Amino acid sequence: MRRRGEQILAFVLAFAGFSSGRAHAYVREATSTGVPVAWRNPCIAMHLYLGAPPPVLSAAEVLAASSQAMAAWSYAQVACTDIRLAVIAEPEETAGACHDGRNVIVFRKDTWCRQPAPSDDAGYADPGCYAASALAVTSIYKNKNTGEILDADIEFNAVNYAWGDLVGQPALATSTTADFQNALTHELGHVIGLDHPCYTGADEGGRLNDNTGVPALDCNDPALPDETSQATMYPSVVLTDTQRRTLSPDDELGVCEIYPHTHEVCPIPSSDGGCNVAAAGGSARAWPVLAGAALALALVALARWRRREPKATPPLRDS
Ligand SMILES: [Zn+2]
Repeated sequence: MRRRGEQILAFVLAFAGFSSGRAHAYVREATSTGVPVAWRNPCIAMHLYLGAPPPVLSAAEVLAASSQAMAAWSYAQVACTDIRLAVIAEPEETAGACHDGRNVIVFRKDTWCRQPAPSDDAGYADPGCYAASALAVTSIYKNKNTGEILDADIEFNAVNYAWGDLVGQPALATSTTADFQNALTHELGHVIGLDHPCYTGADEGGRLNDNTGVPALDCNDPALPDETSQATMYPSVVLTDTQRRTLSPDDELGVCEIYPHTHEVCPIPSSDGGCNVAAAGGSARAWPVLAGAALALALVALARWRRREPKATPPLRDS
């Protein structure tokens, strides 16, 4: 099956103190055929690998932060949704990110590359390494015809960044320490099928429409509304950011419209698999970091990684 993913680009971001009063909006990830993606079962278990967390958090702190990030998207904290994300603590150090029906959250500490690494035998031309500026990458596997999400894996960049609790310990904020709960909350938005709420220019599929049927806003627009730039699903952050831990009204509208609250208890969850299961179409989303924070106008390196079929074009694209 075709694999799709993302590219690398750089752009200038303007944070304008501007609010348009527009209707709340969100953008859904779509398949290559344009079908919006979603889980069939709104109860989603994710295996969190705690065997050797990177500095600065302990395993217990990683687990607690993960539970809170999952609760932020889930019923009953969000009363209007059916989503229930659940964490399963795993004692091992790490795991592969692949289409195996087993959703994982892992830290990459040795190399900031997809593991298991793509190989020529598997039909990949991409070496599978991510941009250093990417804090984390979420890979989604879905049925391209129905849009059903089949598997979602989150990989955290512990090669270029340390991970801490910048709310509980603000003194940890350094040039290389990011807030784990903040980043995970954003990545979990991708897990449930949300895309970024504005268009960066990097998407090969072009600009998607938002839920109101109009083209997504331009992330580079100096008049980008606050409600978009402050959304958890906004595509880049300053390293000290912690505000994405909490959903914005736009994020909440998305999780409630895609998964309205209809079940009082979870349907029976699907079974787990292993990394030897054959892969289906997948895509990956990388969340970049905005270094040097605090300025109203700043340069952002947005890293988005794309898995390609062998011989696929185009190559990397910059803007
Ligand atoms: Zn993202």
